[in-house]
Amino acid sequence: MERQLLRQLHHEWAVANSYYLKGALRSPVIALSKGTSRLGSWNAATRTLSLFRVLVLEHPWPQVNEVLRHEMAHQFVTDVLRPVGETAHGEAFRQAAERLGVDAVAAGLVEVTSSEASVHRKIRKLLSLATSNNQHEAEAAAARAQRLMLKHNLDQVLQSTYTARVMGPTKKRFQRWEKAVMGLLAAHYFVDVMWVPLYDRDRDLRGNAAECMGTPSNLDLAEYVYGFLCTTAERLWREWSVKRRGKQRSDRQNFMCGVISGFDAQLRRQRVQNEQTGLGWVEDPGLVSHVERRYPRVVRRASKGTRLTGAYAAGNVAGQGITLSRGIQTGERRGRLLGPG
Ligand SMILES: [Zn+2]
Repeated sequence: MERQLLRQLHHEWAVANSYYLKGALRSPVIALSKGTSRLGSWNAATRTLSLFRVLVLEHPWPQVNEVLRHEMAHQFVTDVLRPVGETAHGEAFRQAAERLGVDAVAAGLVEVTSSEASVHRKIRKLLSLATSNNQHEAEAAAARAQRLMLKHNLDQVLQSTYTARVMGPTKKRFQRWEKAVMGLLAAHYFVDVMWVPLYDRDRDLRGNAAECMGTPSNLDLAEYVYGFLCTTAERLWREWSVKRRGKQRSDRQNFMCGVISGFDAQLRRQRVQNEQTGLGWVEDPGLVSHVERRYPRVVRRASKGTRLTGAYAAGNVAGQGITLSRGIQTGERRGRLLGPG
């Protein structure tokens, strides 16, 4: 186990060295330490980068990576910048941390708390009401939830601290509809999503995962919507597919894409309605620069289109009905499945 982890840490170090520092650093000795006072350390004399053993064995892997990059920033200071008479976390360290996309201020692990739990309970209740069969009630509840979310976000922007959270599974490959869910979160729920390589410690697997960035409470909300949407889409697919004869292998994929696209169309309509009542969409400039610092070399890819098959169209109708229960026109928005991300 420890040998696997050390091999992976060397791999992460090499990736970060090339991605953030263009290969400026020379390989260190990487060790797991038993001490409890620090999460990690860099010893320039022995060229040893140590990480706290319990951190590496038990904490979520993105946090391990965060601490690794923090220590790499110390390494960059002693190997490359070599300032004279500065404290360990002085100006040179701040520059190095910036290059490595780590928060220079955070001394420990990023703590994720949900201070406004009651607001979330309220939003969750409204969202679950929004699946009601009574169309009028459902529409009203969905609109109120959306308004509450917008207001809530404005509060957040004023005192924002950003953090990152992995959402969903770690896998080698993701289906188109799974990518579409993340596109929807980025388009409507004040988070930014990045597909990143992620090590799965339990399976010793180098896979990929969706990393969402935003304020803690927006991440809570996005996580709730993610779970709700995946469960609902699966349920709608089961309901539709039992009645269907002559199924094709691609039906499930197309149906699920349709559901997400239908739900997306519905959120867009709600947004237009909210703008008409004076509650506008507010881009969060802090989040944009946070993401740029964390991933300085992002290339945004254009999305592939989806074929308009029977299963897709059926899923689209079902997706539009997730909160608004009936009577929605379909067709005009099918091409924009993955949103702007
Ligand atoms: Zn430090």
